[in-house]
Amino acid sequence: MQRITILGATGSIGASTLDVLARHPDQYRVYALSAHGRVDELAEQCRRFRPARAVVGSAEAAARLEQLLADLPIDVAHGEQALCEIASSPDTDTVMAAIVGAAGLAPTLAAARAGKKVLLANKEALVMSGQLFMDAVREHKATLLPIDSEHNAIFQSLPSHYARNPDAAGVAKILLTASGGPFLNRAVETLEQVTPEEACKHPNWSMGRKISVDSATMMNKGLEVIEAHWLFGAPADRIEVVIHPQSVIHSMVSYVDGSVLAQLGNPDMRTPIAHALAFPERIASGVAQLDLTEWSALQFHKPDFERFPCLALAFDALRAGGTAPALLNAANEVAVQAFLERRIGFRDIDRVVRRVMDENAHGAASSIEAVMVQDEEARRAADRIVGLLAGA
Ligand code: NAD
Ligand code: MG
Repeated sequence: MQRITILGATGSIGASTLDVLARHPDQYRVYALSAHGRVDELAEQCRRFRPARAVVGSAEAAARLEQLLADLPIDVAHGEQALCEIASSPDTDTVMAAIVGAAGLAPTLAAARAGKKVLLANKEALVMSGQLFMDAVREHKATLLPIDSEHNAIFQSLPSHYARNPDAAGVAKILLTASGGPFLNRAVETLEQVTPEEACKHPNWSMGRKISVDSATMMNKGLEVIEAHWLFGAPADRIEVVIHPQSVIHSMVSYVDGSVLAQLGNPDMRTPIAHALAFPERIASGVAQLDLTEWSALQFHKPDFERFPCLALAFDALRAGGTAPALLNAANEVAVQAFLERRIGFRDIDRVVRRVMDENAHGAASSIEAVMVQDEEARRAADRIVGLLAGA
């Protein structure tokens, strides 16, 4: 019986994870669930899956959850320390890291430091902490399995003995596919007028709001390039982004002998979730089998870095190294939030990120504390620029 903690249970990934777990009650048991604000939803999940512990974002939310669950023996707590506890407890084997953004870093790192099997959806945590996170995984013998569909596809397309060294495995390139999001073909001049509703309407995937906006700017792909760098030990010039609007191929690995291996499937996150949960076995996920005869054509082309400046900014941050990716990530989180609150326009997102990157020196990512200092500096700088743009 695998005991599971889900960080971010009420989100899109959290719900898909519970959907897969519910199909295999004989193999998995939920140990703990967390949510930030959606207490009623978390209470329903607790009733259905009966975890031993539930964690929410505030004391008020905890009081309300306790009330809703008064008849059940579920320990309710709140805050970051409690998240770290449910991620590192000896009573859990596997941690689904599905909190969105920098808020997920501390508990995800706690899971790695406790040597857990970490199913990583929270790409922002890895983008921020990079080498430090990978070192923690190695030192504490944690198992890190990628949930992001592209990275899960790459993982499946690499040899089983792969040890973060492309040359040793004959890997020429990692080909990261991207749908291009909702604005792949929209006239560039009209991008200034994009609304949050338009940005969140992804053609192929149903996801949380932050990652949906990231997909529309292609910052999501930029963060994924950095994520691929850390997961697979590939330098920036060995990671190529390929636009593939149908999202049938989830990514590929190109080998020195000319072979290209890919993983295909319907675009549904339950496939990578089931893969990582059961690895190295396979379990049913509820996803329909892919019928390639339904697709008359699969298309591939190069990304347009002028249409999607965030993608170029992410490559810049990866090449700059140190805390530059943490700067990029923090500025982007602030800008996306301001866009979703209608305080700035869609194209202001890349303006905020660029200015924060240009105006703030990055340093060495020598410790998690140094990364967090840079994260806070970048948030303050981004807030100031948002204020200027919003007032303009
Ligand atoms: P979501 O917005 O649907 O859910 C986020 C979850 O995190 C919720 O449970 C929420 O309660 C919790 N949360 C939010 N802010 C928090 C905070 N400050 N402290 C603690 N918990 C907090 O997001 P999602 O789409 O499920 O994405 C989750 C993560 O997975 C993101 O990092 C995203 O990039 C990654 N991811 C998502 C998908 C997808 O298809 N949705 C695909 C690949 C990767
Ligand atoms: Mg992805």
